[in-house]
Amino acid sequence: MRDEEQQRHRMVEVQIARRGVRDPVVLAAMRTVPRERFVGAGMEEFAYADSALPIEADQTISQPYIVAAMIEAAEIGPDDCVLEVGAGSGYAAAVLGRIAGTVFAIERHETLARLARERLAALGYSNVEVRIGDGTVGLPEEAPFDAILVSAGGPDVPRALKEQLAIGGRLVVPVGEPGSQTLCKVTRRSAGRYEEEDLGAVAFVPLIGAQGWAEDGSRAASNHLAGASRKRSLPEMIAEAAEPLPAFDDPAFGRLFDRFADRRVVLLGEASHGTAEFYRARAAITRHLVEHHGFTIVAVEADWPDAAAIDRYVRHRPGREAAEPPFQRFPEWMWRNTEVAALVAWMRGHNDGIADPDRRAGFYGLDIYNMRGSIAAVLDYLDRVDPEAAQVARERYGCLTPWQRDPATYGRSALRRGYAECEEAVIAQCRALLARKLDYAREDGDSFLDAAQNARLVASAERYYRIMYYGGAESWNLRDRHMFETLQNLLDAKGPDAKAIVWAHNSHIGDARHTDMGAVRDELNIGQLCRERFGREAALIGFGTHTGTVAAATDWDGAMEVKRVLPSRRDSYERLCHDAGTPRFLLDLSPGRHEALRRRLAEPRLERFIGVIYRPETELWSHYSQAVLPEQFDAYVWFDEAQAVTPLGPEHRARGTVPDTYPFEE
Ligand code: SAM
Repeated sequence: MRDEEQQRHRMVEVQIARRGVRDPVVLAAMRTVPRERFVGAGMEEFAYADSALPIEADQTISQPYIVAAMIEAAEIGPDDCVLEVGAGSGYAAAVLGRIAGTVFAIERHETLARLARERLAALGYSNVEVRIGDGTVGLPEEAPFDAILVSAGGPDVPRALKEQLAIGGRLVVPVGEPGSQTLCKVTRRSAGRYEEEDLGAVAFVPLIGAQGWAEDGSRAASNHLAGASRKRSLPEMIAEAAEPLPAFDDPAFGRLFDRFADRRVVLLGEASHGTAEFYRARAAITRHLVEHHGFTIVAVEADWPDAAAIDRYVRHRPGREAAEPPFQRFPEWMWRNTEVAALVAWMRGHNDGIADPDRRAGFYGLDIYNMRGSIAAVLDYLDRVDPEAAQVARERYGCLTPWQRDPATYGRSALRRGYAECEEAVIAQCRALLARKLDYAREDGDSFLDAAQNARLVASAERYYRIMYYGGAESWNLRDRHMFETLQNLLDAKGPDAKAIVWAHNSHIGDARHTDMGAVRDELNIGQLCRERFGREAALIGFGTHTGTVAAATDWDGAMEVKRVLPSRRDSYERLCHDAGTPRFLLDLSPGRHEALRRRLAEPRLERFIGVIYRPETELWSHYSQAVLPEQFDAYVWFDEAQAVTPLGPEHRARGTVPDTYPFEE
């Protein structure tokens, strides 16, 4: 099978069939039309992406799923005569051409219509005709139609199109204000009787014409319904439910989150790894929960051995001699920034007043990337408590020595040789250490927990770097499972009343089952695992922003840059929050709180995910993904405009903002 053909088959299976389109004729047609021949120049590599793509004249070729879903909804038969309004690239017309008898497609932009004709002719279509004109008035000379599909969104259903339906004919059309469109199916039951059905939320470019929108976005005169009652818009509903956020250092900020204080685990997300407001808000919530509600575990998406250095500092435990300074690896700014430094300083000060070491709040890492640091920490620990066992551990870990600086090369080599030479050794080492728990932990439980977690990390990382090369969900899932198990181990170690706060990206803490991660890619995450394990005892709190700046790199291992964040897309959750008009707020999405809003937000929409890399040039394909926000999170924290974090530099020491003994200092 050719590459494009394979991509098409995958597109149909993953993006379309799994989302519920079942009609075999529609699926077969989607498998045959070469989408790469219809996308705008230079966009061919994204042709099978799960999204709309730009085409000429500032228009878009619709997302494959929506094309398939609309065609399925229109129930097209082999002899049907079909009208498509908004031919655009000609792609949907080409798919229709594989299913129907005759297809007429109208496009108002002459350039687009001409290009679409050329593409269809080059592919040998003889049953699809592209016309230029205003499709809101239909094509009376070719009517009636068995089905009409409208690929742009109007204020309401164009009357002319209803009238050009055959009896029994189906019209599928997006209607509503931009930002809250729904897909409407109209079936003509008799000359004067139509049935309407709501097929859910969608996002289309505007339908412009006599019975659509005017060019300036207002309603065209002939389509205006005098006196029609207006449904409240989603942004208006968000504005009503939004609770404005006070200043970060105002105690009222933390108090807003008292509603989650009785949970066992509170997970705090972020929509990027480099936004100051997300760090400062999470710090304010963390301080409040630690100070007033007995949370003693702060577990973050950082590597265990690095976070352990911070933990020793904040809990006033002795440092490890010869240990490397933490957070030396890319992306350094994620944990070496002034916002984290301020929280660390606060935790140390807070713990200072607590005599019982077990009641002090600790700082822990859930992630698995610093295998080298973990190996060093295990050996260091055994050197102190059991030098003989240290010797055996050195031999076992020796297997990984050649790869320690760049563990990804271990994975590649294991794949090439066809066997995992270090797997047995690292698992044996982890088991050996855990088996001695009673002996080792008697003296110093904290140090044992640290060493055991490092040994577990090495075992997970060995496997992670091997399966990374297979692609797919397995390596992501292994990492999130490891993070969840680490959290669980911490809770177990601290006793039945222990409560934890987790800091990790929205992609980790928002329930994966309600995003494309789970629905399309079979990926799970720590948020989902927490909900499965703790039920209502876990609170999942997402964070988002419309625009501003972010600290991020352009490529993996690249330098940090302060980049401008593009304003959020019109068809995203972020845009709804922006349109709500409140600059910073908490939106409580818990069941039973704002049910009408929850229901309206529950139609899947795009959500932006920025990690340590930000590529505004390909933002839609690199950073947006579908989600169902009110299921993904229990609450959402919004900053309309946000700024990049400030990485720690020598000037911060000079200015005295970082304590002398601060472990980030080299
Ligand atoms: N079906 C198209 C495809 O597969 O590429 C998607 C087209 S795009 C989402 C919508 C198109 O509708 C745009 O090309 C736009 O110019 C066109 N359009 C908007 N209003 C129109 C109207 N009144 N008559 C005809 N075309 C219109």
